Amino acid sequence: MLFPRRFLTRLARVCLLIALAVPAIVHALPKASNVPGGIALIPLGPVSAQGKAPRAWLEDQPVLVSAESGQWFAVVGLALDLPTGTHDLHVGEGVEQKLLHFEVGSKRYPEQHITLKDKSKVNLSPTDEARAIAEIATIKELKRHWRDTDSTETDFALPAEGRLASRFGLRRFFNGEPRAPHAGLDVAVPRGTPIRTSARGKVLAVDDYFFNGKTVFVDHGNGLISMYCHLDRIDVQAGDPVSQGQRLGLSGMTGRASGPHLHWSVMLNGVMVDPELFLAANRNTR
Ligand SMILES: [Zn+2]
Repeated sequence: MLFPRRFLTRLARVCLLIALAVPAIVHALPKASNVPGGIALIPLGPVSAQGKAPRAWLEDQPVLVSAESGQWFAVVGLALDLPTGTHDLHVGEGVEQKLLHFEVGSKRYPEQHITLKDKSKVNLSPTDEARAIAEIATIKELKRHWRDTDSTETDFALPAEGRLASRFGLRRFFNGEPRAPHAGLDVAVPRGTPIRTSARGKVLAVDDYFFNGKTVFVDHGNGLISMYCHLDRIDVQAGDPVSQGQRLGLSGMTGRASGPHLHWSVMLNGVMVDPELFLAANRNTR
């Protein structure tokens, strides 16, 4: 079929206007980083008009599946102690089930040496040790918590403005003794600074822990959870819905902290990942 040239010119103008009216593609998903402590983004096919998100698992743990630019992606949290090499993602159920392979490379995180004057928080008394062990078990359950939601906000804002002090993944030594790696991001803020939730969600738990001090867990849905530690005061309760930027409490140095700061952790499919991968400044470089 032939169209008059004038019609085609007009059509081109209309198409251009439509293209300009559609906002630029926003990279809402976190930045991919296929290393321990990072995130793998695994394409699962195009989003169809009525199709539901495919389901995916890493071993027995369900994994967040989210859409970007018309594609489904499994957004897979990679544990700091995950071995490098090839891993399997289980996708779909029954006859539809398939295995997708993905690679995890190595990353050598820097070392951090910390001197704590309060030795009771380094070499624990039997009572403190029993308390800390019980709390670690509770926190492990919270990390693996799963709540189905239609969508998950992965577009995170920094919970407080401040210097990024200790980064995620640092291999830590307390008074010369090797300890677990730093599984969060520390933001240096004076005591009493408002701490705001990084994204929309629901308060999963609040508690006062031996190591983490006064802590808030926010569940963003589908296995994405954020944790805010060492607070001086908590202003929310478990079950409260929260919107991005809503105040959770005030910063402090409760628990094991050498000074006032926010320790912010982000969990995906039950494992701690680098919170900075969720911040816009990093996503835009993808
Ligand atoms: Zn920290």
